[in-house]
Amino acid sequence: MNTSVFLLALSFLPFFEARNQAANFIIAPPAEGVEAKAEKPDMTGYTICPACVGKRELLLEEPDFGQHDGRLLGGSKKKRKKCPLCKGEGRFASFMDPADITLQIARDHETFVAEHRGKGELSVGEAFVPHDAYESLDRNKKKMIEEAFGKACTKCNWSGIEACKKCSGRGVLPCPENDCKNGFLVTKTTTEKTRRRSGGMSGNNGYNRNSGFRSSSGSRTKTIKETKTTVLVCPTCEGAKFVLCPECNGRKAHPCKKCNGLGIKKKGGGF
Ligand SMILES: [Zn+2]
Ligand SMILES: [Zn+2]
Ligand SMILES: [Zn+2]
Ligand SMILES: [Zn+2]
Repeated sequence: MNTSVFLLALSFLPFFEARNQAANFIIAPPAEGVEAKAEKPDMTGYTICPACVGKRELLLEEPDFGQHDGRLLGGSKKKRKKCPLCKGEGRFASFMDPADITLQIARDHETFVAEHRGKGELSVGEAFVPHDAYESLDRNKKKMIEEAFGKACTKCNWSGIEACKKCSGRGVLPCPENDCKNGFLVTKTTTEKTRRRSGGMSGNNGYNRNSGFRSSSGSRTKTIKETKTTVLVCPTCEGAKFVLCPECNGRKAHPCKKCNGLGIKKKGGGF
C-alpha cells in the first residue's frame, strides 16, 4: 500500500542547514540583513482515496444473497455512483504519511551529520562548527550555539506533527457499521408464523394419524420459519467501506501539542 517511502517530495536537509547557519552566526555574525530561515518543509499533500483508488466513482455491485429469489439469475446489480468518501475528488487533502515523514527526517538528519563530519567539523549540541572555530569557544559561547540550533521536540522529533492515534495515521477507518459487508448492509430477519389448525381440518398426515382420536377437540399449531435477506447500500459508508477518521478528518496527523507544532523542544523555564 505504501510505495512512497523513499520518494517523498520533501527534505528536512535545508531546515537542518538553516538551523546550523543560525547557530554559526554566534561565532561569525551575519552581514546586515542576512537571516537564516529555518522553516520546515511543507508536509501537506494529498491522499489517494482508498475507496475509489482515485477513480472518483464507485462501482457498486450488489452481492447476491438470494434476496431476489433468483430473479437476478445470471446478472448482478451494478451501479455507478460518485465516491462518497472523497466526494468525487479521487483524493483528499492530508498530511503526508506521518511514518514516511519520520523516516525522511531520520535520513535527512543522518545526511546532515555525515556531511558536516565529513568536512571535519565538530559538534556543539546538535550544531556543527568549523574545527578552527571550535578551539576558541568558551562555555558560554557553546551554550549559545547549542541553543541557537535547538533540540528536537522529544515527542515529534522536529516534524511538529503527531500521527493521529484514532486512525494510526491512515486518515480513514473501516466502516464502523457492524453489519456492513463490503459497503452493503446485509440483514437477515427471521419471522415465525404460527398457524393454528384443527385436527380434523389439517393435511393428510395429521388427519390420518389422528383420525378417530381427536377429530373434534384436537387443535395443533404449526410454526413456519421464514428468513428474509435484505441487502442495502450501507447508510454509514454509502458503499465506500471506509469512513473519514472523525479525529483528524482524513488529515492523518495533528500539530504536536508538546511543541505547538514547532518541532523544537521548548527551552527550560517555560515559554
Ligand atoms: Zn473516492
Ligand atoms: Zn513536538
Ligand atoms: Zn458501511
Ligand atoms: Zn485520524
